[in-house]
Amino acid sequence: MSEAAAALDAGLGSRMMLEMSPDRSFGVLAPAFAGNEVDFALDRYEDRGCTFLRENRCELHGTGLQPLECRFCHHDRPGQGPACHDAVGADWDSDAGRALVTRWARLTGFWERLGLPPRGHP
Ligand code: SF4
Repeated sequence: MSEAAAALDAGLGSRMMLEMSPDRSFGVLAPAFAGNEVDFALDRYEDRGCTFLRENRCELHGTGLQPLECRFCHHDRPGQGPACHDAVGADWDSDAGRALVTRWARLTGFWERLGLPPRGHP
């Protein structure tokens, strides 16, 4: 979660998406599928790959902003994303996790995209 917070601080929130837990009780911010930025993670964009993947290289590699979920799931263990997300989910299923998602939503205009009034503190 700390990498996602740092990515948000670095102004990369507009390139992230929100993956909801299976029971939708909490969300995980992740690098977006290309075209799926500032939205819920949608299966129809999955084939497009990650928005940070350029010419088979991760733009975040070595920056300290590459999320744990990526390093362990998306590439090193393809297809294991959901299981990995379960493992890191506990980190996000917390007050701090929800606050970070709310901050991202406020910074990126996520609520407005959904046609909802902004939430959270300014
Ligand atoms: S490691 Fe892969 S999934 Fe993660 S940000 Fe980089 S390109 Fe995207």
